[in-house]
Amino acid sequence: IIQTKGLNKYFGDKHVLKDINFAVRKQEVVALIGPSGSGKSTLIRCLNALEQASSGEIYIQGQKLDPYLPVKQLIPIRRELGMVFQNFNLFPHMTVLQNVIEAPLLVRKIPRDQAVALGEKLLAKVGLSEKRDVYPSRLSGGQKQRVAIARALAMQPRALLFDEPTSALDPELVGEVLKVMKDLAYEGSTMVVVTHEMQFARDVSDRVVFMSDGMIVEEGDPEELFKQPKNKRTQLFLERIL
Ligand code: ATP
Ligand code: MG
Repeated sequence: IIQTKGLNKYFGDKHVLKDINFAVRKQEVVALIGPSGSGKSTLIRCLNALEQASSGEIYIQGQKLDPYLPVKQLIPIRRELGMVFQNFNLFPHMTVLQNVIEAPLLVRKIPRDQAVALGEKLLAKVGLSEKRDVYPSRLSGGQKQRVAIARALAMQPRALLFDEPTSALDPELVGEVLKVMKDLAYEGSTMVVVTHEMQFARDVSDRVVFMSDGMIVEEGDPEELFKQPKNKRTQLFLERIL
């Protein structure tokens, strides 16, 4: 579903992504880990065209994500991927249900009653049916993030990209969000998850990718990578974090 070839990204003369070859297959759950500043967010932002790669190629569902494409052609490719951010980014002036159905109504142009039915179904899925008419300011962080996940799902993307979805949460709220993500994984969703939750990476992901200093240093089966990291940098990182 996702593939990059020789992806490079510079911010000024800072080389932030170095020759990244990264692929995600259908129904795969990939955990992207690595120290702060290693380029994890930049990589997934490039996949979604939130950042422009400096060189290299990105394919989403076989379509080349060319930064020079006219917006009209870029939007449908971008829509293949749903994004969940650390800070939720909900619309504060809309209720929970409105947040979830806004994009399907506006972008997918589906009829209102269908959108509402879809929104209600997704809110039930993330355990927030009773909050449908509440504004985001009345929700806990964990609830906000579950709404953000429902909103991403409402566009029926082929894959979901998560950038540290639990790092802004109080510790007691992390579990409810990971639970929703776990359910999605078991249902066969395709997911890329940037995370510091090593237990989640270990239990839920099919593959762990370790980035350091803009490079993919090591990747593999979670059990193996956590038990016997081959690369020195992976070893040092895991020693510090586990
Ligand atoms: P963290 O775990 O802290 O989120 P990360 O692995 O997601 O880190 P990135 O945010 O991708 O790292 O950043 C990689 C490098 O690119 C860092 O050195 C960062 O300072 C730099 N960087 C990121 N965004 C920009 C930007 N818009 N302009 C300039 N430099 C940037
Ligand atoms: Mg980041």
